[in-house]
Amino acid sequence: MNIEQATKQLERLRKEASTCTGTGKVASYIPELAKEDPCQLGVSICMPDGTILSAGEVNKPFTLQSISKIFSLIVALCQNGHQYVFERVGKEPTGDPFNSIIKLETIKPHKPLNPMINAGAIAVAGMIQGKNVQERLECLLDMLRKMTGNPNIHVNEAVYCSEKKTADRNRALAWFLKDSGVLTGDVEETLDLYFQHCSIEVTATEVARLGMVLAADGVDVCTGERVFPAEIARICKTFMVTCGMYNASGEFAIDVGIPAKSGVAGGIMATVPQRMGIGVFGPALDEKGNSVAGVKLLELLSKEWNLGIF
Ligand code: GLN
Repeated sequence: MNIEQATKQLERLRKEASTCTGTGKVASYIPELAKEDPCQLGVSICMPDGTILSAGEVNKPFTLQSISKIFSLIVALCQNGHQYVFERVGKEPTGDPFNSIIKLETIKPHKPLNPMINAGAIAVAGMIQGKNVQERLECLLDMLRKMTGNPNIHVNEAVYCSEKKTADRNRALAWFLKDSGVLTGDVEETLDLYFQHCSIEVTATEVARLGMVLAADGVDVCTGERVFPAEIARICKTFMVTCGMYNASGEFAIDVGIPAKSGVAGGIMATVPQRMGIGVFGPALDEKGNSVAGVKLLELLSKEWNLGIF
């Protein structure tokens, strides 16, 4: 299939999927996210030779939100190693919403079940090293700038401040983790790092490039440079399958069959091993917090191009 044909197909599928944007709602618990137009839907695909295919709103900036949890995990694993990280956060799906607090207390030891739920990602943020929050954040920004080829990747201050002001539940999770000994440093600083990394701004095309690095086992196909070890890419892709779409991960694995991570700003990063990275932006969310049209589009795309890995 040539690029023109593939782009036409992509646009056709995007149009078909965009008919369901009306069934979702933009996230409003972070007030700044509620300003987004719910009708948008964009998709970019990055191929192993770096070619990009696009349809719809692919240059519209949005915040990574939970997609950033993959990259904070990569930094934490690179800095601390497998044993240290997984002594403090588990490897199991929860079946609960991403911001749930319930299993933190009922399961012993009181460590978060996985790094893709908020509690787990806050624990991971606590493991990122640096002499202050800015330096810890820069580790992540540097890696994302390298992987997207965009030296201007930055935090959206309005979204960051909006989340910081309204994050009572995440604060509760963090203080519980402090009490359990999972978090050892300054809690407010770690929360600040977490809010900022969730508010890093990207486009669907940039997310497609990030997905392609994972698809290529940690190598940036555009530069040929290894960004992180293949073993870490393997761990991330496995988490994407088991926990990447929150408590809809099982359904998504059956219906779409592609490792993916979503965020409440409406982004989804999908990664088809060795074949492509996919970035989707569609801010209207379903009741579990996944982009409603984005999930539909990935399902159509997976069927049409036979992308499922199972
Ligand atoms: N920053 C968001 C939060 O902590 C991320 C959640 C998400 O994207 N699911 O609530």
